[in-house]
Amino acid sequence: MVAIDPRFRRAYADASWTPFWLDRSDRPAARPALEGDQTADLVIVGGGFTGLWAALQALEDTPGRDVVVLEGERVAFGATGRNGGFCDASLTHGLENGKQRFPTEIERIEQEGHENLEAIAATIERYGIDCSWEDTGSMIVATAPHAIDWCRSAVEHLTAFGYEASFLDRDEVRAEVDSPTYLAAFWKQTGSALVDPARLAWGIAAAADGLGARIHEHSQVTAIDEDDDALVVRTAIGRVRARSVILGTNAFPPVATAIRRYVLPVYDYVLMTEPLSIDQKVAIGWRHRQGLADMANQFHYYRLTDDDRILWGGYDAIYHWNNSVEPRHERRDATYDLLAQQFFETFPQLEGLRFSHTWAGAIDTCSRFSVFFGQEFGGKLAYAAGYTGLGVGATRWGARVCLDLVDDLQTGRTQLSLVRKKPLPFPPEPLRSTGVWLTRRALARADRRQGRRGPWLRLLDAVGLGFDS
Ligand SMILES: Cc1cc2nc3c(=O)[nH]c(=O)nc-3n(C[C@H](O)[C@H](O)[C@H](O)COP(=O)(O)OP(=O)(O)OC[C@H]3O[C@@H](n4cnc5c(N)ncnc54)[C@H](O)[C@@H]3O)c2cc1C
Repeated sequence: MVAIDPRFRRAYADASWTPFWLDRSDRPAARPALEGDQTADLVIVGGGFTGLWAALQALEDTPGRDVVVLEGERVAFGATGRNGGFCDASLTHGLENGKQRFPTEIERIEQEGHENLEAIAATIERYGIDCSWEDTGSMIVATAPHAIDWCRSAVEHLTAFGYEASFLDRDEVRAEVDSPTYLAAFWKQTGSALVDPARLAWGIAAAADGLGARIHEHSQVTAIDEDDDALVVRTAIGRVRARSVILGTNAFPPVATAIRRYVLPVYDYVLMTEPLSIDQKVAIGWRHRQGLADMANQFHYYRLTDDDRILWGGYDAIYHWNNSVEPRHERRDATYDLLAQQFFETFPQLEGLRFSHTWAGAIDTCSRFSVFFGQEFGGKLAYAAGYTGLGVGATRWGARVCLDLVDDLQTGRTQLSLVRKKPLPFPPEPLRSTGVWLTRRALARADRRQGRRGPWLRLLDAVGLGFDS
């Protein structure tokens, strides 16, 4: 075990444990909880991006539809209020993963993804949502020699699919953003934007409110039962009877227990710096404000905020026994120490900068790293989960598909095997924890060995089982 320099822990010692995006004076007041007996056309469980996009699109499709959203905590409490704010066109956790898993449908899926990203931008414009949307693209940097060729081939693959993308050698990438760790990069200039995720979620919620949605916070759903031709959705102090239900509960313990076989909640950790001074900004460059990530199995993602802080997250992906999702998992000094150390290795010129916020969130990893769908109660209930680490954009599409499913619409979307087929399930405990442990070890080893995948990873690749944040 490597000893961590105490300077790194001191750099976040005074940080707030509230996710930066939610720690704002303009956070809307909580909406009242559900009480008593009510009826609706559609009940949506979960006030994250999936649930909110489902509510807004349901009301845009059918004005006057009676839509109720039930959120157990606060709007954007889950991954939606904790993420990096990278909003990508990919519905498949990247083009490469999509090509491998859906080779005959990838063109169609990519087209859906680009239309989806355009529709998100159009919605922000239409409702005047103030969420710092920035069309910056994203730049993936090579910090190990073997990753330089990967950058070149990524450019070929992306441009073949119509993206604007370019290769940057060491000097070119350092002229963009200056880190001594960078050896090369590829910059995907289209198909990826940055956003303030909580403000986007609050804006979608306000737009849905405006069209008549009834959003209830502090309304944890405890059960859903069938009653004749309707479903009854229960909380501790209320219930709603509705023709259809959509679940957007992501990595949280699912009300539809079938989801559990396919989802592995993995904690991902984030540090946010204080705003950079003018001198600090000059020291790193970053004039084009691209979203950044490094090209490794255990990777970091990082970006600037609109007030010039740096959000720095990723690397560790921590799974807890039996799919546990609990606030206590959010405090993990070993991970924050490591993240702080890696931050200053990447930007030594920022020595002395402090972190104002640290937080963590659960990612709904599934074995194919991309959203899957399911239905219960004869099709009256639909769910979307498994976005893994790339759901900020894909959730709008996931919500769109759920609406198709509960409304029994046959569309181009519902024909896709991305919608019809489920990922391979993860095994039950104790095999689940053992498998995650072996995989994490093998991924770290591959990073140390010029990306060469050992026998365990090759076996997982062969059977189509994956683990990623
Ligand atoms: C640290 C981190 C960084 C990430 N970075 C990125 C990124 O940069 N780009 C990207 O594309 N993706 C990223 N992701 C993933 C992305 O945030 C998610 O895919 C997306 O937000 C999922 O939205 P959701 O609505 O499905 O789930 P969530 O936002 O988790 O919402 C689920 C909601 O359901 C509620 N809920 C659960 N159970 C119940 C119940 N029984 N009753 C009522 N309510 C319930 C929860 O309280 C929660 O609010 C990241 C995720 C994390 C955790």
